[in-house]
Amino acid sequence: MSELTGRIALVTGGGSGIGRATALVFARAGADLIINDISPERAEGVASEVADLGRKALAIPADVADLGAVEAMAGQALKSFGKVDIVVNNAGIGVEVPFHKMSKEEWERMFAVHVGGTFHCTRSLLPQMMERRWGRIISISSVAGLMGEVGLVHYSAAKAAILGFTKALAREMASYGITVNAIAPGLIDTPLARSIQPELWQKFVSASPVGHEGKPEDIAHACAYLASEGASFVTGQVLSPNGGIWM
Ligand code: NAP
Repeated sequence: MSELTGRIALVTGGGSGIGRATALVFARAGADLIINDISPERAEGVASEVADLGRKALAIPADVADLGAVEAMAGQALKSFGKVDIVVNNAGIGVEVPFHKMSKEEWERMFAVHVGGTFHCTRSLLPQMMERRWGRIISISSVAGLMGEVGLVHYSAAKAAILGFTKALAREMASYGITVNAIAPGLIDTPLARSIQPELWQKFVSASPVGHEGKPEDIAHACAYLASEGASFVTGQVLSPNGGIWM
């Protein structure tokens, strides 16, 4: 029996990069998956990769910034699987813009997706975890939320907000058998990260003691650890697989 056998996991932004890798690592560990993404094609594509691994998978396209869409997604997931044990709040965007040129819309969209999405997905699925007194909330922050990054003031602020969310909710949920943790990745080779300026990419790689970027699987395995029974005593923590760029 694998570590996540019998577990049902929702991965938001699961159609690409870190979310896709997390879904596949979870499936190999025995979990069934709900794959959310804003792109229906990408969500379906990863759901079929999960099915190829012999696990059940349901693709639910939705914008996590939209509370109504997330509530509908949660309802569909619970109707199909009866429960959701693990939520990975992973959906994200990363648009570089100097702060003095940043519009209110850019600022608000960054918070709507990262902070709003994390709130919507967690809020929709937490009560049924509380009833069963078991759950895992794993939210993807960033080293930018720990260190700050040029051109990413909105992103850094939203990722830092996820850390406060994680620590406060971990305290509220501790007596319910629900752990709440964050992962703050360093530079990971995904379409989102490849969209940054080549100079910024090179700056990150040069500053990293390991001298190279990470792979989506490096984060997926950290998620699998936090989702496991073995991590029951780990809550309110920020795990930062980052090649040593932040210690
Ligand atoms: P990615 O490959 O672009 O995957 C993110 C997925 O989320 C994409 O399919 C994206 O669709 C989707 N998405 C965007 N907005 C959404 C929304 N509102 N609702 C549902 N899905 C949405 O990026 P990634 O690098 O794997 O990023 C995953 C998470 O890791 C993000 O939270 C990111 O901030 C975080 N992170 C990444 C790195 C890194 O170096 N890669 C480092 C630290 C933290 P679109 O492509 O259409 O937007």
